[in-house]
Amino acid sequence: MADSTTAFEIATDKPLQADLDKCVHCGLCLNACPTYRVLGVEMDSPRGRIYQMNQVAAGAPIGPSYIEHIELCLACRGCESACPSGVEYGKLVEAARAEIEGSVARPRWVRGLRRFVFGHLLQSPAIMTALGAVLYLYQSSRLQKVIRTLGFLKLLGKLGAIESLTPPAEPPFFFSKIGATFPAEGQRRYRVALMAGCIANVCFARLNEATVRVLQKNGCEVVVPEGQGCCGALHVHAGLRDEARGLARRNIDALLDGGYDAILTNAAGCGSTLKEYGELLEGDPQYAARAREFSKRMQDVTEFLASIELNREMRPLPLTVTYQDSCHLAHGQRIRTAPRKLLQAVPGLTFREMPLSDVCCGSAGIYNVVRNEMSMEILERKMASVNQTGAAVIATANPGCVLQLRAGVNLHGKGQRVVHVVELLDEAYRR
Ligand code: SF4
Ligand code: SF4
Repeated sequence: MADSTTAFEIATDKPLQADLDKCVHCGLCLNACPTYRVLGVEMDSPRGRIYQMNQVAAGAPIGPSYIEHIELCLACRGCESACPSGVEYGKLVEAARAEIEGSVARPRWVRGLRRFVFGHLLQSPAIMTALGAVLYLYQSSRLQKVIRTLGFLKLLGKLGAIESLTPPAEPPFFFSKIGATFPAEGQRRYRVALMAGCIANVCFARLNEATVRVLQKNGCEVVVPEGQGCCGALHVHAGLRDEARGLARRNIDALLDGGYDAILTNAAGCGSTLKEYGELLEGDPQYAARAREFSKRMQDVTEFLASIELNREMRPLPLTVTYQDSCHLAHGQRIRTAPRKLLQAVPGLTFREMPLSDVCCGSAGIYNVVRNEMSMEILERKMASVNQTGAAVIATANPGCVLQLRAGVNLHGKGQRVVHVVELLDEAYRR
């Protein structure tokens, strides 16, 4: 069973030479890379980053320049889809970050902040609930309006950027549903488990409820198993692989033996990591086989719904909708057709493809906060693609992308509504 230690372990992983050697330096990935598209700098392209990883593997020191180029990467894996040589870039950049994490002494306050966020906040429903309540009070009081109207956010610099990207807290929080079972509507066809996420329980509680309803409409008994927690995706992206392993063991223990037909998530970023538990725990003799089995059962909710006989009893939604591929769905999980198929199943809905729909929107976990300037450059380009479609609704399959695109609509959009694909299905099922 999972080690219950809360120790903040330091990862020791690093890119493997065999993985680095798969790159033949052809450059076919360059145009798929959002940071290269903005900067036009080789060292901020996938090929350039692999070159630098090779230098470090050959003994070069891990210096500020290397850290900067690796940290400026969104880990969006657009390059992985573009690469004809099968370079697993996502694995490489995660390992490079783990190596940096294990070898660089960060300032004390940064260490303290990271320890709080990754070691406590993301793992504690109590802390998330308390902070969610404070956030809700701030957002529902006049204070937020006053601060935004008077332009204080600009004076706050990075803190101001964080404020403008903060999702709305949505009480009642979904934590109260953990442990619950929701019956199938009509005949039960499947028994599925829902991974409710961590922050999503506070900030995407309505999306989680919509997900449950849509699954119920499709003959699923939905269990939200007790004992589940944060999937560890943000830890993996930050190079904290040992911490992520602890979270993976806990989720495996909570879900694997429940006899579910599938384990589902509505967050593509989480799903990508959940499907890689097998790899994350491959060196753990006690968990390796269970982790592989867990990953096999894991599915994105759009992937699951598109694979079953969909309930077509929907009301028409006369909407023009475009779809933004979530990187961790399109590139991380290679799922592009399923969400489009679901949107096109809604009667009355007109689907308009946007150019470069699978180029990252700049969200990338907490990238839009820690690398706000680059994230906003990328977002501006994304919104130009969205605006070309004339669509009134932007659908996507990851809560982080929903937030980023909402910020994009505020800054550069034309009043579009931004929703998760499942929320449109939920609307269509409601009478
Ligand atoms: S990562 Fe792939 S596409 Fe990019 S340079 Fe290397 S081999 Fe070419
Ligand atoms: S993961 Fe994304 S940002 Fe990073 S190198 Fe690849 S395409 Fe560029």
